[in-house]
Amino acid sequence: ANGTVILDTAGVKRALTRIAHEILERNKGVDDLVLVGIRTGGVHLAREIAARLEEIEGVTVPVGEVDITLYRDDFKGHARHLPVGRTDIPFSLENKRVVLVDDVLFTGRTIRAAMDAMMDHGRPACIQLAVLVDRGHRELPIRADFVGRNVPTSLKEKIAVLFDAASRPTDVVLEK
Ligand code: 5GP
Ligand code: MG
Repeated sequence: ANGTVILDTAGVKRALTRIAHEILERNKGVDDLVLVGIRTGGVHLAREIAARLEEIEGVTVPVGEVDITLYRDDFKGHARHLPVGRTDIPFSLENKRVVLVDDVLFTGRTIRAAMDAMMDHGRPACIQLAVLVDRGHRELPIRADFVGRNVPTSLKEKIAVLFDAASRPTDVVLEK
């Protein structure tokens, strides 16, 4: 591919393992913990983190999914009454410690929309954010609690987060 490898497969694995440990430390274990991945990359990463939490704590952590495409602020004006993207959270978020998971954090608008979408599912005790890459350029007062890698980017650059056929993360590449 055309670009700079930011994280190779081993690097992605280490970052996700570290994030899993940080989540456990911050939340003092997995009691009342749930993960919500943002489709599609965030869901794959949420499953990776959940697998590590289970391995470390021996407890299954629920993983939900939100698809926020139509919640994007850019669409709001004219798409307000269209059906929203698929939200698959088959459990209540009431009093849960929710960790939102996404692949790349950019303006922050997706995360704001994801928090909006989740509010139909109960009132969480708290919401935290884990991302594999923070590429900067925030337009809202949103920050990640757990970050795989901070990658300063220009607006023209793009981060490619690559997955294999089994949806396992492989590489993270900065594309010029
Ligand atoms: P935001 O809403 O913060 O502007 O953008 C974040 C969302 O757009 C994330 O769901 C992410 O998947 C996607 N995104 C934004 N910039 C990039 C990027 O450089 N690379 C990838 N792979 N996704 C991006
Ligand atoms: Mg996305």
